[in-house]
Amino acid sequence: MSKIWVLGAGQLGAMLKHAATPLALDVEPVDIEDHHSLHLSEGDIITAEREQWPETDATSQLAAHPGFVNKNVFATLADRFTQKSLIDELGLATAPWFDITDGSLETDLHAALGQRVLLKRRTGGYDGKGQHWLKQSEGSAIPADFRNQSIAEQAIAFDEEISLVGMRDHKGNSFFYPLTLNLHVNGILMASIANLSRLQPLQAEAEQMLGKLMDKLDYVGVMAMELFRTGNKLQINELAPRVHNSGHWTQAGSNISQFEAHMRAVAKLPISQPTVRGHSLMINLIGTDLNNDWLAVAGAELSWYDKVVRPGRKVGHINFCRDSQAELIESMQQLKSLLPDNYAEVIEWVTEELTH
Ligand code: ATP
Ligand code: MG
Repeated sequence: MSKIWVLGAGQLGAMLKHAATPLALDVEPVDIEDHHSLHLSEGDIITAEREQWPETDATSQLAAHPGFVNKNVFATLADRFTQKSLIDELGLATAPWFDITDGSLETDLHAALGQRVLLKRRTGGYDGKGQHWLKQSEGSAIPADFRNQSIAEQAIAFDEEISLVGMRDHKGNSFFYPLTLNLHVNGILMASIANLSRLQPLQAEAEQMLGKLMDKLDYVGVMAMELFRTGNKLQINELAPRVHNSGHWTQAGSNISQFEAHMRAVAKLPISQPTVRGHSLMINLIGTDLNNDWLAVAGAELSWYDKVVRPGRKVGHINFCRDSQAELIESMQQLKSLLPDNYAEVIEWVTEELTH
């Protein structure tokens, strides 16, 4: 039987493997630093849990294999310059932006984009890393090491951040989960709420946007689109050609999780529209030690990644899928005292969103 290799052996690779087990798919996540020679066979399938990778023994073996699904998509989406160019080319809304070169002047950027301008490294950024704010009032300058390797974006005064996770099969059929509301603190996703009826009116437009991108890229698998919502206007923040943290709730809240959907797509298995049950919520565990008391909270479904705990590091998540929003609030009341103090604002935000 052919094997599915996942480039990267972090939590996403582990969850892809876990989801594929009931389908009897043979999945092997590969650590990018692995120095072994991989026993790749001709009919094997390669996918990735990350959009970018350094050239190593492991990644060069995987990247050279003809069964690498979406191989040409990664380079385009992993670089913010080419990603934003594609979004522009398709006429989709995104924060206005410029490429930063040797000749870029702060005054020109402020004139075009406003008082506050966000520099983002073209590659390698995650969880808000690789970003730098230019503030006209402070006369801040473009750091030398951002030149020729970053873009400048207008600061968007969004009302909230939402995301859409979609999937496309090898025949070109696309399916989508409901829009997810996300709370980011200091660039890190802290919580996601799914299936909020108030986001329903934006669903069709968001699906059109992501559908257009996936079709253009002839993409196969799960793709995530992060959005800013300002009034009823949507702007794309960024795209991820992989399963995404804001889709983790689907493990509890859908008959087909995003992980299973991705594996089905790359393995050319059928996919039907995922059904969604109840009300879902995901709390990310950031830089906090494992506490098995979390398991006593009503509805809690824990995923602990078994990584070394460091401040700011994603080490797990807890999903909740319950029949009503009131029950989710009840779960949050129970969870509150079991998380570090900095989670007070997260629980408060979740509670408020669920109370509307
Ligand atoms: P991820 O971990 O999702 O890959 P990232 O570090 O690659 O994130 P972004 O998603 O681009 O980077 O930015 C992180 C966060 O910074 C966003 O979720 C948002 O809160 C804020 N942000 C990004 N771009 C803008 C912008 N143009 N205006 C205002 N805030 C922004
Ligand atoms: Mg992001």
